[in-house]
Amino acid sequence: MKAALAGANGELLHLARRATGRERGPDAVVEGILGFAAELRAYGIERFGEPAAAAGVAVPGIVDEERGVAAYAANLGWRDVPLRALLGERLGGVPVALGHDVRTGGLAEGRIGAGKGADRFLFVPLGTGIAGAIGIGGRVESGAHGFAGEIGHIVVRPGGALCPCGQRGCLERYASAAAVSQAWAAATGDAGADAADCAKAVASGDPKAVRVWRDAVDALADGLVTALTLLDPRTLIIGGGLAEAGETLFTPLREAVRRRVTFQKLPSIVPAALGDTAGCLGAGLLAWDLLEPTDRTEVAT
Ligand SMILES: [Zn+2]
Repeated sequence: MKAALAGANGELLHLARRATGRERGPDAVVEGILGFAAELRAYGIERFGEPAAAAGVAVPGIVDEERGVAAYAANLGWRDVPLRALLGERLGGVPVALGHDVRTGGLAEGRIGAGKGADRFLFVPLGTGIAGAIGIGGRVESGAHGFAGEIGHIVVRPGGALCPCGQRGCLERYASAAAVSQAWAAATGDAGADAADCAKAVASGDPKAVRVWRDAVDALADGLVTALTLLDPRTLIIGGGLAEAGETLFTPLREAVRRRVTFQKLPSIVPAALGDTAGCLGAGLLAWDLLEPTDRTEVAT
């Protein structure tokens, strides 16, 4: 878990980290979050002379932002946890916002990170899986049921590899950091080889690595072109482990997207800027939005 005290324009005043303790079960994780938040609040009073005016929290899985309920998180064992109410209680009744981890991280990247004030952006982190956040007018679209932005489950190879979601040929089976690690391990026969090793081998011109990398970039470009055809974003922000490959990824990716579009306008394709603090900075922005419920795109530009 990352937790922060954030100023009105999203500036980081204090950052702390600790383990979720999920091996102790779902309730212990909830209690851990509540305790962590309470400690942060106490630290804020001591350090800045007043308590935080609002709180934001971002969690994985399926999130009902309107009701403030963490509806489902397989890796935490959560079902219908009323986090917003619990946190409000623990923090002396301040307003609390609940967000989805990727959408919240995307909000921060779009407003104060790589997209800085972009009115329309798409944030796509390439990690264990591939998720997405659709930014529109300073906010992130969550969809009617909390599923908007799941670009990793766009089918790019019909009839292809089976995905845990139940479909075949999903983008994340080909272009996530995990998928590239798996493909590179298979190509080299070294079970410990990962996507970062593959990127290094690509940079040094290893033809086997170049093939693995090209397959991933092609799949990613196919998925991204579907997304930008629907959304027409101004900025496409790519994050997660795979984006750490830098130009080894971005140069061929921009080229692959450019080759595919016909009438669509090309967005600028840029690396994420906030790293693993994006989620907690975004939660801070959600909290500030509760106090100033206006379009804050202007503030960031
Ligand atoms: Zn899938």
